[in-house]
Amino acid sequence: MDTVIVLFNRDLRVHDHPALTAACADARRVVPLFVVDPELARSTRGGFLVECLADLRDSLRRRGGDLAVRWGDPVAETVRLARELSARAVYVSADVSAFARSRERRLAEECARHRLGFRTFPGLTIVPPGALRPSGGGDHYRVFTPYLRAWSRAERRRMLPAPEWVPVPGNLRSGWPEGTWRASHPLLTGGETVARKRMAQWLRWCVGDYAEGQDDLAGNRTSKLSPYLRFGCLSPLELESLAEGGGEFVRQLCWRDFHHQVTFAFPRINRDDYRSRGLSWHDDEHAAQAWKAGMTGVPIVDAGMRQLRAEGWMHNRARLITSSFLVKWLKVDWRVGAEHFWKLLLDGDVPNNYGNWQWVAGTGNDTRPNRVINPIRQAVRFDPDGEYVRRYLPELETVRGRAVHRPWRLPSAVHGYPGPLVPLD
Ligand SMILES: Cc1cc2nc3c(=O)[nH]c(=O)nc-3n(C[C@H](O)[C@H](O)[C@H](O)COP(=O)(O)OP(=O)(O)OC[C@H]3O[C@@H](n4cnc5c(N)ncnc54)[C@H](O)[C@@H]3O)c2cc1C
Repeated sequence: MDTVIVLFNRDLRVHDHPALTAACADARRVVPLFVVDPELARSTRGGFLVECLADLRDSLRRRGGDLAVRWGDPVAETVRLARELSARAVYVSADVSAFARSRERRLAEECARHRLGFRTFPGLTIVPPGALRPSGGGDHYRVFTPYLRAWSRAERRRMLPAPEWVPVPGNLRSGWPEGTWRASHPLLTGGETVARKRMAQWLRWCVGDYAEGQDDLAGNRTSKLSPYLRFGCLSPLELESLAEGGGEFVRQLCWRDFHHQVTFAFPRINRDDYRSRGLSWHDDEHAAQAWKAGMTGVPIVDAGMRQLRAEGWMHNRARLITSSFLVKWLKVDWRVGAEHFWKLLLDGDVPNNYGNWQWVAGTGNDTRPNRVINPIRQAVRFDPDGEYVRRYLPELETVRGRAVHRPWRLPSAVHGYPGPLVPLD
Protein backbone atom coordinates (compact mmCIF):
# COMPACT_ATOMS: atom_id res chain seq x y z
CA MET A 1 0.00 0.00 0.00
CA ASP A 2 1.16 3.48 -0.60
CA THR A 3 -0.06 5.64 2.31
CA VAL A 4 -1.84 4.70 5.55
CA ILE A 5 -3.15 7.12 8.18
CA VAL A 6 -2.85 6.08 11.83
CA LEU A 7 -5.44 8.00 13.81
CA PHE A 8 -4.27 8.28 17.43
CA ASN A 9 -6.74 8.66 20.27
CA ARG A 10 -6.13 7.10 23.68
CA ASP A 11 -2.91 5.45 22.52
CA LEU A 12 -0.33 8.27 22.59
CA ARG A 13 2.83 6.19 22.39
CA VAL A 14 5.20 4.52 19.95
CA HIS A 15 6.07 1.41 21.99
CA ASP A 16 3.80 -1.60 21.65
CA HIS A 17 1.39 0.16 19.32
CA PRO A 18 -0.15 -2.49 17.05
CA ALA A 19 -1.85 -0.03 14.65
CA LEU A 20 1.34 1.98 14.12
CA THR A 21 3.50 -1.12 13.71
CA ALA A 22 1.06 -2.61 11.20
CA ALA A 23 0.96 0.63 9.21
CA CYS A 24 4.76 0.73 9.06
CA ALA A 25 4.77 -2.86 7.80
CA ASP A 26 1.92 -2.45 5.29
CA ALA A 27 2.58 0.95 3.71
CA ARG A 28 5.35 2.89 2.04
CA ARG A 29 4.27 6.05 3.85
CA VAL A 30 2.61 6.44 7.22
CA VAL A 31 0.73 9.48 8.49
CA PRO A 32 0.33 9.61 12.29
CA LEU A 33 -2.61 11.92 13.00
CA PHE A 34 -4.28 13.35 16.10
CA VAL A 35 -7.44 15.41 15.86
CA VAL A 36 -8.00 17.66 18.87
CA ASP A 37 -11.45 17.90 20.34
CA PRO A 38 -11.63 21.55 21.53
CA GLU A 39 -13.66 20.50 24.56
CA LEU A 40 -10.93 18.10 25.69
CA ALA A 41 -8.25 20.75 25.11
CA ARG A 42 -10.08 23.13 27.47
CA SER A 43 -10.84 20.45 30.07
CA THR A 44 -8.80 19.49 33.14
CA ARG A 45 -6.99 17.00 30.95
CA GLY A 46 -6.05 19.54 28.25
CA GLY A 47 -2.62 20.57 29.56
CA PHE A 48 -1.60 16.96 30.07
CA LEU A 49 -2.86 16.04 26.61
CA VAL A 50 -0.83 18.72 24.88
CA GLU A 51 2.31 17.44 26.62
CA CYS A 52 1.48 13.91 25.46
CA LEU A 53 1.14 15.15 21.89
CA ALA A 54 4.38 17.13 21.98
CA ASP A 55 6.23 14.09 23.29
CA LEU A 56 4.65 11.79 20.72
CA ARG A 57 5.63 14.18 17.97
CA ASP A 58 9.25 14.23 19.22
CA SER A 59 9.37 10.43 19.32
CA LEU A 60 7.99 10.17 15.81
CA ARG A 61 10.38 12.83 14.52
CA ARG A 62 13.33 10.92 15.98
CA ARG A 63 12.17 8.03 13.79
CA GLY A 64 11.96 10.09 10.64
CA GLY A 65 8.24 10.66 11.08
CA ASP A 66 5.97 13.39 12.38
CA LEU A 67 2.58 13.90 13.99
CA ALA A 68 -0.08 15.71 12.02
CA VAL A 69 -2.35 17.62 14.41
CA ARG A 70 -5.74 18.92 13.34
CA TRP A 71 -8.59 20.59 15.19
CA GLY A 72 -12.25 19.59 14.90
CA ASP A 73 -14.25 16.49 14.09
CA PRO A 74 -11.91 13.47 13.90
CA VAL A 75 -13.92 11.74 11.18
CA ALA A 76 -14.13 14.74 8.85
CA GLU A 77 -10.48 15.70 9.43
CA THR A 78 -9.18 12.16 8.90
CA VAL A 79 -11.04 11.74 5.65
CA ARG A 80 -9.98 15.21 4.50
CA LEU A 81 -6.31 14.41 5.13
CA ALA A 82 -6.63 10.97 3.54
CA ARG A 83 -7.98 12.56 0.36
CA GLU A 84 -5.34 15.30 0.42
CA LEU A 85 -2.56 12.71 0.60
CA SER A 86 -4.29 10.03 -1.50
CA ALA A 87 -4.05 7.62 1.42
CA ARG A 88 -5.40 4.11 1.00
CA ALA A 89 -6.45 3.20 4.51
CA VAL A 90 -7.00 4.38 8.08
CA TYR A 91 -5.81 2.37 11.11
CA VAL A 92 -7.00 2.98 14.68
CA SER A 93 -6.80 1.35 18.12
CA ALA A 94 -10.25 0.06 19.04
CA ASP A 95 -11.91 1.77 22.00
CA VAL A 96 -14.98 0.92 24.08
CA SER A 97 -17.10 3.89 25.16
CA ALA A 98 -20.30 4.86 23.33
CA PHE A 99 -18.63 8.07 22.18
CA ALA A 100 -15.54 6.30 20.83
CA ARG A 101 -17.56 3.50 19.25
CA SER A 102 -19.79 5.96 17.43
CA ARG A 103 -16.68 7.75 16.16
CA GLU A 104 -15.30 4.41 14.93
CA ARG A 105 -18.59 3.55 13.23
CA ARG A 106 -18.80 6.93 11.50
CA LEU A 107 -15.18 6.66 10.44
CA ALA A 108 -15.73 3.17 9.04
CA GLU A 109 -18.76 4.42 7.08
CA GLU A 110 -16.95 7.47 5.70
CA CYS A 111 -13.93 5.37 4.77
CA ALA A 112 -16.19 2.96 2.91
CA ARG A 113 -17.86 5.88 1.13
CA HIS A 114 -14.48 7.21 -0.01
CA ARG A 115 -13.10 3.76 -0.85
CA LEU A 116 -10.57 3.86 1.94
CA GLY A 117 -9.61 0.77 3.89
CA PHE A 118 -10.37 0.84 7.61
CA ARG A 119 -8.90 -1.41 10.31
CA THR A 120 -9.04 -1.48 14.09
CA PHE A 121 -6.30 -2.90 16.32
CA PRO A 122 -5.92 -3.93 19.97
CA GLY A 123 -3.72 -2.05 22.43
CA LEU A 124 -5.91 -0.20 24.93
CA THR A 125 -6.18 -3.13 27.30
CA ILE A 126 -4.15 -6.23 28.16
CA VAL A 127 -6.82 -8.68 26.99
CA PRO A 128 -9.14 -7.22 24.33
CA PRO A 129 -12.71 -6.53 25.48
CA GLY A 130 -15.04 -9.22 24.20
CA ALA A 131 -12.25 -11.81 24.00
CA LEU A 132 -13.33 -13.65 27.15
CA ARG A 133 -16.81 -15.03 27.60
CA PRO A 134 -18.16 -16.88 30.63
CA SER A 135 -18.76 -20.59 30.03
CA GLY A 136 -22.29 -20.24 31.40
CA GLY A 137 -23.24 -17.87 28.56
CA GLY A 138 -23.36 -14.10 28.02
CA ASP A 139 -21.14 -11.81 26.01
CA HIS A 140 -19.06 -10.52 28.93
CA TYR A 141 -18.15 -11.14 32.56
CA ARG A 142 -20.40 -9.44 35.11
CA VAL A 143 -18.42 -10.51 38.16
CA PHE A 144 -14.76 -9.71 38.76
CA THR A 145 -13.36 -12.88 40.40
CA PRO A 146 -14.27 -15.33 37.61
CA TYR A 147 -13.06 -12.72 35.11
CA LEU A 148 -9.74 -12.48 36.94
CA ARG A 149 -9.38 -16.28 36.76
CA ALA A 150 -10.07 -16.40 33.00
CA TRP A 151 -8.01 -13.25 32.39
CA SER A 152 -4.96 -14.65 34.20
CA ARG A 153 -5.00 -17.73 31.97
CA ALA A 154 -5.78 -15.92 28.70
CA GLU A 155 -3.17 -15.80 26.00
CA ARG A 156 -1.43 -12.44 25.54
CA ARG A 157 -0.71 -10.93 22.13
CA ARG A 158 2.95 -10.48 21.22
CA MET A 159 4.43 -7.25 22.51
CA LEU A 160 5.83 -4.92 19.88
CA PRO A 161 8.91 -2.72 19.95
CA ALA A 162 8.65 0.89 18.79
CA PRO A 163 9.06 1.08 15.01
CA GLU A 164 12.59 2.05 14.01
CA TRP A 165 11.45 4.19 11.13
CA VAL A 166 8.16 5.95 10.39
CA PRO A 167 8.26 7.09 6.76
CA VAL A 168 5.94 10.11 6.45
CA PRO A 169 5.09 11.67 3.07
CA GLY A 170 7.33 14.61 2.17
CA ASN A 171 4.39 16.99 1.70
CA LEU A 172 2.81 16.40 5.11
CA ARG A 173 1.84 19.66 6.82
CA SER A 174 2.13 18.82 10.50
CA GLY A 175 0.16 21.71 12.05
CA TRP A 176 -0.32 22.56 15.71
CA PRO A 177 -3.67 24.04 16.72
CA GLU A 178 -3.61 27.56 18.05
CA GLY A 179 -6.78 27.10 20.13
CA THR A 180 -7.17 27.35 23.88
CA TRP A 181 -5.22 24.74 25.81
CA ARG A 182 -5.56 24.25 29.51
CA ALA A 183 -2.37 24.91 31.54
CA SER A 184 -0.10 22.02 32.52
CA HIS A 185 -1.00 19.85 35.45
CA PRO A 186 0.83 21.00 38.61
CA LEU A 187 2.09 17.55 39.62
CA LEU A 188 2.27 15.26 36.60
CA THR A 189 3.77 15.89 33.17
CA GLY A 190 2.18 14.15 30.21
CA GLY A 191 3.86 11.99 27.59
CA GLU A 192 5.33 8.57 26.92
CA THR A 193 8.89 9.56 27.87
CA VAL A 194 7.92 10.63 31.39
CA ALA A 195 5.54 7.68 31.64
CA ARG A 196 8.26 5.15 30.83
CA LYS A 197 10.64 6.65 33.38
CA ARG A 198 7.94 6.63 36.01
CA MET A 199 7.01 3.04 35.15
CA ALA A 200 10.65 1.90 35.40
CA GLN A 201 11.13 3.60 38.77
CA TRP A 202 7.86 2.28 40.10
CA LEU A 203 8.68 -1.29 39.06
CA ARG A 204 12.21 -1.10 40.40
CA TRP A 205 11.61 0.49 43.77
CA CYS A 206 7.96 0.47 44.77
CA VAL A 207 5.83 -2.32 43.33
CA GLY A 208 7.10 -4.83 45.90
CA ASP A 209 5.57 -2.72 48.66
CA TYR A 210 2.26 -2.23 46.82
CA ALA A 211 0.09 -4.82 48.59
CA GLU A 212 1.07 -3.44 51.97
CA GLY A 213 0.88 0.25 51.07
CA GLN A 214 -1.98 0.59 48.60
CA ASP A 215 -4.48 1.78 51.19
CA ASP A 216 -2.14 4.08 53.10
CA LEU A 217 -3.87 7.39 52.42
CA ALA A 218 -1.17 9.66 53.82
CA GLY A 219 1.69 7.58 52.42
CA ASN A 220 0.44 7.95 48.86
CA ARG A 221 2.11 4.68 47.89
CA THR A 222 0.30 3.80 44.66
CA SER A 223 1.85 4.13 41.21
CA LYS A 224 0.01 7.24 39.91
CA LEU A 225 0.30 5.68 36.48
CA SER A 226 -3.44 6.06 35.82
CA PRO A 227 -3.22 9.29 33.75
CA TYR A 228 -0.57 7.65 31.57
CA LEU A 229 -2.73 4.58 31.08
CA ARG A 230 -5.71 6.82 30.40
CA PHE A 231 -3.95 8.51 27.48
CA GLY A 232 -2.18 5.35 26.37
CA CYS A 233 1.30 6.76 27.03
CA LEU A 234 1.97 3.30 28.45
CA SER A 235 1.00 -0.05 27.06
CA PRO A 236 -0.89 -1.88 29.82
CA LEU A 237 0.39 -5.13 28.31
CA GLU A 238 3.99 -4.02 28.68
CA LEU A 239 3.34 -2.79 32.22
CA GLU A 240 1.86 -6.15 33.17
CA SER A 241 4.68 -8.10 31.58
CA LEU A 242 7.31 -6.09 33.47
CA ALA A 243 5.50 -6.18 36.83
CA GLU A 244 6.91 -9.57 37.77
CA GLY A 245 5.90 -10.59 41.25
CA GLY A 246 3.58 -7.59 41.58
CA GLY A 247 0.53 -9.84 42.00
CA GLU A 248 -1.70 -7.32 43.74
CA PHE A 249 -0.68 -4.55 41.35
CA VAL A 250 -1.43 -6.74 38.32
CA ARG A 251 -4.81 -7.48 39.88
CA GLN A 252 -5.58 -3.74 39.68
CA LEU A 253 -4.67 -3.75 36.01
CA CYS A 254 -7.18 -6.56 35.62
CA TRP A 255 -9.84 -4.32 37.20
CA ARG A 256 -9.08 -1.84 34.44
CA ASP A 257 -9.56 -4.53 31.78
CA PHE A 258 -12.69 -5.72 33.57
CA HIS A 259 -14.39 -2.32 33.39
CA HIS A 260 -13.37 -1.97 29.74
CA GLN A 261 -15.03 -5.27 28.80
CA VAL A 262 -18.17 -4.29 30.75
CA THR A 263 -18.29 -0.95 28.92
CA PHE A 264 -17.75 -2.68 25.61
CA ALA A 265 -20.84 -4.79 26.29
CA PHE A 266 -22.82 -1.98 27.92
CA PRO A 267 -21.74 1.31 26.31
CA ARG A 268 -24.47 3.27 28.12
CA ILE A 269 -22.56 2.79 31.37
CA ASN A 270 -22.12 6.56 31.82
CA ARG A 271 -25.87 7.16 31.74
CA ASP A 272 -27.97 4.15 32.65
CA ASP A 273 -27.92 1.75 35.58
CA TYR A 274 -26.06 -1.38 34.56
CA ARG A 275 -28.32 -3.34 36.90
CA SER A 276 -31.52 -1.50 37.53
CA ARG A 277 -32.38 -1.81 41.22
CA GLY A 278 -35.24 0.66 41.38
CA LEU A 279 -33.31 2.93 43.75
CA SER A 280 -34.75 6.37 44.39
CA TRP A 281 -32.29 9.20 44.87
CA HIS A 282 -32.60 12.40 46.88
CA ASP A 283 -32.59 15.49 44.73
CA ASP A 284 -30.58 17.38 47.35
CA GLU A 285 -28.67 20.23 45.77
CA HIS A 286 -27.40 21.51 49.13
CA ALA A 287 -25.84 18.13 50.01
CA ALA A 288 -24.37 17.70 46.52
CA GLN A 289 -22.75 21.16 46.66
CA ALA A 290 -21.34 20.55 50.14
CA TRP A 291 -19.87 17.25 48.92
CA LYS A 292 -18.29 18.88 45.86
CA ALA A 293 -16.84 21.70 47.94
CA GLY A 294 -15.40 19.38 50.60
CA MET A 295 -17.68 20.84 53.28
CA THR A 296 -19.78 17.86 54.40
CA GLY A 297 -18.39 18.03 57.92
CA VAL A 298 -16.94 14.52 57.57
CA PRO A 299 -13.20 15.17 57.46
CA ILE A 300 -12.10 12.08 55.53
CA VAL A 301 -14.70 12.79 52.83
CA ASP A 302 -13.82 16.47 52.66
CA ALA A 303 -10.08 15.76 52.47
CA GLY A 304 -10.64 13.49 49.46
CA MET A 305 -12.86 16.02 47.72
CA ARG A 306 -10.36 18.79 48.30
CA GLN A 307 -7.51 16.64 47.05
CA LEU A 308 -9.54 16.15 43.86
CA ARG A 309 -10.11 19.88 43.51
CA ALA A 310 -6.49 20.81 44.20
CA GLU A 311 -4.69 18.04 42.33
CA GLY A 312 -7.10 16.64 39.75
CA TRP A 313 -6.39 13.29 41.32
CA MET A 314 -7.56 11.34 44.35
CA HIS A 315 -6.26 8.27 46.15
CA ASN A 316 -8.28 5.15 45.34
CA ARG A 317 -9.30 4.57 48.98
CA ALA A 318 -10.52 8.18 49.16
CA ARG A 319 -12.43 7.71 45.88
CA LEU A 320 -14.22 4.76 47.48
CA ILE A 321 -15.02 6.65 50.69
CA THR A 322 -16.20 9.87 49.02
CA SER A 323 -18.29 8.16 46.34
CA SER A 324 -19.90 5.80 48.81
CA PHE A 325 -20.67 8.73 51.13
CA LEU A 326 -22.52 10.53 48.34
CA VAL A 327 -24.63 7.59 47.21
CA LYS A 328 -25.12 5.56 50.38
CA TRP A 329 -25.26 8.23 53.09
CA LEU A 330 -26.51 11.34 51.26
CA LYS A 331 -28.51 9.19 48.80
CA VAL A 332 -27.60 11.45 45.89
CA ASP A 333 -27.70 9.90 42.41
CA TRP A 334 -24.36 8.35 41.34
CA ARG A 335 -24.53 10.32 38.08
CA VAL A 336 -24.09 13.61 39.99
CA GLY A 337 -20.88 12.36 41.59
CA ALA A 338 -19.56 10.63 38.49
CA GLU A 339 -19.98 13.80 36.41
CA HIS A 340 -18.05 15.81 39.00
CA PHE A 341 -15.20 13.25 39.06
CA TRP A 342 -15.25 13.13 35.28
CA LYS A 343 -14.79 16.89 35.08
CA LEU A 344 -11.90 17.06 37.53
CA LEU A 345 -9.94 13.81 37.29
CA LEU A 346 -6.77 13.83 35.24
CA ASP A 347 -7.19 10.09 34.74
CA GLY A 348 -10.95 10.37 34.14
CA ASP A 349 -12.04 7.80 31.58
CA VAL A 350 -15.45 6.34 30.85
CA PRO A 351 -14.98 2.66 31.74
CA ASN A 352 -13.11 3.21 35.01
CA ASN A 353 -14.95 6.26 36.26
CA TYR A 354 -18.51 5.19 35.54
CA GLY A 355 -17.79 1.49 36.11
CA ASN A 356 -16.43 2.23 39.58
CA TRP A 357 -19.23 4.66 40.40
CA GLN A 358 -21.85 2.07 39.51
CA TRP A 359 -19.94 -0.55 41.51
CA VAL A 360 -20.07 1.72 44.58
CA ALA A 361 -23.71 2.72 44.01
CA GLY A 362 -24.78 -0.92 43.87
CA THR A 363 -26.11 -0.58 40.33
CA GLY A 364 -22.95 -2.08 38.81
CA ASN A 365 -20.82 -5.17 39.23
CA ASP A 366 -20.50 -5.44 43.00
CA THR A 367 -21.78 -8.82 44.19
CA ARG A 368 -22.78 -7.08 47.46
CA PRO A 369 -24.76 -4.13 46.12
CA ASN A 370 -26.03 -3.14 49.59
CA ARG A 371 -22.53 -2.71 51.00
CA VAL A 372 -22.22 0.52 53.01
CA ILE A 373 -18.80 1.92 53.77
CA ASN A 374 -18.56 3.69 57.12
CA PRO A 375 -16.35 6.72 56.51
CA ILE A 376 -15.24 7.10 60.12
CA ARG A 377 -14.16 3.48 60.46
CA GLN A 378 -12.34 3.76 57.15
CA ALA A 379 -10.66 6.97 58.29
CA VAL A 380 -9.41 5.45 61.52
CA ARG A 381 -8.13 2.40 59.68
CA PHE A 382 -6.50 3.98 56.63
CA ASP A 383 -5.47 7.36 58.05
CA PRO A 384 -4.77 6.35 61.65
CA ASP A 385 -2.84 9.49 62.60
CA GLY A 386 -5.08 11.87 60.66
CA GLU A 387 -2.18 13.03 58.51
CA TYR A 388 -4.11 12.80 55.21
CA VAL A 389 -7.01 14.81 56.63
CA ARG A 390 -4.78 17.55 58.06
CA ARG A 391 -2.90 17.81 54.73
CA TYR A 392 -6.07 18.89 52.89
CA LEU A 393 -8.15 20.52 55.64
CA PRO A 394 -6.28 23.52 57.07
CA GLU A 395 -9.21 24.18 59.43
CA LEU A 396 -8.26 21.02 61.32
CA GLU A 397 -4.52 21.52 61.26
CA THR A 398 -4.21 21.93 65.00
CA VAL A 399 -6.29 18.90 65.94
CA ARG A 400 -3.88 16.13 66.91
CA GLY A 401 -4.06 12.41 66.16
CA ARG A 402 -7.21 10.56 65.22
CA ALA A 403 -9.46 13.06 67.02
CA VAL A 404 -9.35 14.85 63.68
CA HIS A 405 -11.77 12.27 62.27
CA ARG A 406 -14.54 13.27 64.70
CA PRO A 407 -14.15 17.02 65.17
CA TRP A 408 -17.76 17.32 66.43
CA ARG A 409 -16.75 15.38 69.52
CA LEU A 410 -14.08 17.87 70.52
CA PRO A 411 -14.78 19.97 73.65
CA SER A 412 -14.28 23.26 71.81
CA ALA A 413 -15.70 24.04 68.36
CA VAL A 414 -13.41 24.07 65.32
CA HIS A 415 -13.90 27.42 63.66
CA GLY A 416 -14.93 27.49 60.03
CA TYR A 417 -15.59 23.76 59.77
CA PRO A 418 -19.22 22.54 59.60
CA GLY A 419 -20.84 19.80 61.64
CA PRO A 420 -21.57 16.52 59.76
CA LEU A 421 -24.37 16.64 57.18
CA VAL A 422 -25.71 13.30 58.41
CA PRO A 423 -25.35 11.64 61.81
CA LEU A 424 -22.54 9.10 61.76
CA ASP A 425 -22.18 7.80 65.30
C1 LIG B 1 -15.59 6.29 42.26
C2 LIG B 1 -14.31 5.91 41.54
C3 LIG B 1 -13.98 6.52 40.34
C4 LIG B 1 -12.81 6.16 39.64
N1 LIG B 1 -12.52 6.76 38.44
C5 LIG B 1 -11.41 6.38 37.75
C6 LIG B 1 -11.11 6.97 36.50
O1 LIG B 1 -11.83 7.81 35.98
N2 LIG B 1 -9.97 6.55 35.87
C7 LIG B 1 -9.14 5.61 36.40
O2 LIG B 1 -8.11 5.28 35.79
N3 LIG B 1 -9.43 5.02 37.57
C8 LIG B 1 -10.53 5.37 38.26
N4 LIG B 1 -10.80 4.77 39.47
C9 LIG B 1 -9.98 3.63 39.90
C10 LIG B 1 -8.79 3.95 40.82
O3 LIG B 1 -9.19 4.77 41.88
C11 LIG B 1 -7.65 4.63 40.06
O4 LIG B 1 -7.33 3.89 38.91
C12 LIG B 1 -6.40 4.73 40.92
O5 LIG B 1 -6.66 5.42 42.11
C13 LIG B 1 -5.31 5.41 40.13
O6 LIG B 1 -4.17 5.58 40.91
P1 LIG B 1 -2.85 4.75 40.61
O7 LIG B 1 -2.47 4.83 39.19
O8 LIG B 1 -1.85 5.20 41.62
O9 LIG B 1 -3.35 3.28 40.92
P2 LIG B 1 -2.58 1.96 41.34
O10 LIG B 1 -3.16 1.54 42.63
O11 LIG B 1 -1.12 2.13 41.24
O12 LIG B 1 -3.10 0.90 40.27
C14 LIG B 1 -2.48 0.70 39.01
C15 LIG B 1 -3.48 0.86 37.90
O13 LIG B 1 -4.50 -0.11 38.01
C16 LIG B 1 -5.73 0.44 37.53
N5 LIG B 1 -6.72 0.44 38.62
C17 LIG B 1 -6.49 0.49 39.94
N6 LIG B 1 -7.66 0.43 40.63
C18 LIG B 1 -8.64 0.34 39.70
C19 LIG B 1 -10.06 0.24 39.76
N7 LIG B 1 -10.73 0.21 40.91
N8 LIG B 1 -10.74 0.21 38.59
C20 LIG B 1 -10.09 0.23 37.41
N9 LIG B 1 -8.76 0.31 37.29
C21 LIG B 1 -8.04 0.36 38.41
C22 LIG B 1 -5.44 1.87 37.11
O14 LIG B 1 -5.21 1.89 35.73
C23 LIG B 1 -4.18 2.20 37.90
O15 LIG B 1 -3.39 3.19 37.30
C24 LIG B 1 -11.97 5.14 40.19
C25 LIG B 1 -12.30 4.55 41.41
C26 LIG B 1 -13.45 4.93 42.09
C27 LIG B 1 -13.79 4.24 43.39
